[in-house]
Amino acid sequence: MENQEGINIGIDLGTANTLVYVSGRGIVFNEASVVAYDLETSKTFAVGNEAARMLGRTHDKIRVSKPLHLGVISDIKAAKALIESVLLKLDPTTYSIPDSTLLICCPSEVTMVERESLINLAHDLGIDDAFIEEEVKAGVIGSGIDIFTAQGNLFIDIGGGSTDVGVLSLGDIVVSESIRVAGSRMDELIKKHVQYEHGLLIGEKTAELIKTTIGTVREQLDPAELKTIHVAGRDNTTGLPREVEIMQEEIRDVLIEPFEEIVKTTLRVLEQTPPELSADIINNGIFTCGGGSLVDGAQEFIATRLNIEVKQSPNPLTAIAEGTKVLLRNRGNYLIKPMD
Ligand code: ADP
Ligand code: MG
Repeated sequence: MENQEGINIGIDLGTANTLVYVSGRGIVFNEASVVAYDLETSKTFAVGNEAARMLGRTHDKIRVSKPLHLGVISDIKAAKALIESVLLKLDPTTYSIPDSTLLICCPSEVTMVERESLINLAHDLGIDDAFIEEEVKAGVIGSGIDIFTAQGNLFIDIGGGSTDVGVLSLGDIVVSESIRVAGSRMDELIKKHVQYEHGLLIGEKTAELIKTTIGTVREQLDPAELKTIHVAGRDNTTGLPREVEIMQEEIRDVLIEPFEEIVKTTLRVLEQTPPELSADIINNGIFTCGGGSLVDGAQEFIATRLNIEVKQSPNPLTAIAEGTKVLLRNRGNYLIKPMD
C-alpha cells in the first residue's frame, strides 16, 4: 500500500453512457449511465449495463436511476453511486486515491451549483484534486483536432439527452449552446409515430432499436436498398400483442424534425461566432460526435442545410473519454500544446 502513486481519471458522464479513462490503462469502463440502489441504506446494488437491465423490473425498496436526464443532473445520489462504484472497480489497492486527479466532463447546461456538487462528491470520495470540463471541449480534443492553435472549430455532440454545439478556439469554448433534442427525443418521436400511425404501443427500447436499425435522414433513399423492421407491441384498442412492419421512409420523416432542430441550433451558434472564426469553420468544416451522429445520413443532412462540410469524428462514441487524457495532462494551461 505504501508509496503508491495517484492516477489520472477522466469521466464522461453522459445521459446514456458513462465512460471512464485512466492514465496508462485506457478506457476501463463503458456502460449505461444507470445505478440501482437501496432506498433505505443507499447501498448500491448494480451499476452500468447490469443496472440498466433492472429498469422497470424492481420492487419499491430499490431505485433504478439515471444520474442525468436531458443533459442535466437529475439524481445527484445516483451520480455519486455511479462514480463511487467506478472508482472501486479500479481496484483502490493499486493506487493512492488522495493523490489522484479526477476530471468529470458534463454537458454545458450543467449549472455551477451542479458542478460544485460534483466536485464535493469527489472530495467525499477522498479525491481533493477534482475539476469539471465541458464535454464539447473534451470531444474535440479526443477527436484529434488541434484546438490549441487560433483555428476555430465547430463541434456538434448528439448524445442521448442533449445535443451540444460549440465553437472552440485557442483551447477553449468561444460560443456554445445545448438543446434537449438528441437520441432519446428521436426514440420518443418514433414511439409516438408507431402509436398513431400503426395503433401500436411500443417500449423505448423497441423505439431505439428501430432508430439504430433503419433510422436515416438521407433525402434520397435507394428504392432497391430500402430497409424495414418487424416490431412487436401492444395494440392500442384490443390490448393484445401484435407485430407490425415499419418502413425506412416513415422513420426518415420522423427523424427529420429533430435533425432540423439540431441544424437550427448550429445556425444560432454560427450567428454568434466572431467572423474570423467563421472563416476558419468554413475551411475546417464541422465535426460531429455522439451516438446520435451515427444516424445514417446525419453528416450529409447538416452539410446540405448549412452549406459547410461536415465530418464525423473518428471515434464518435469514445471521443470525450479520449479527450480527458489530454485535459488531465494539460490541466489549467490550455495554450500549451500537449506532447504525445
Ligand atoms: P450520452 O453522451 O448522452 O451518454 P451517447 O453519445 O453515448 O450519449 O449516445 C447515446 C445515444 O446514441 C442513444 O440515444 C442511442 O440510441 C444513440 N445511438 C447509438 N448508436 C446509434 C446508431 N447506430 N444510430 C443511431 N443512434 C444511435
Ligand atoms: Mg456524451
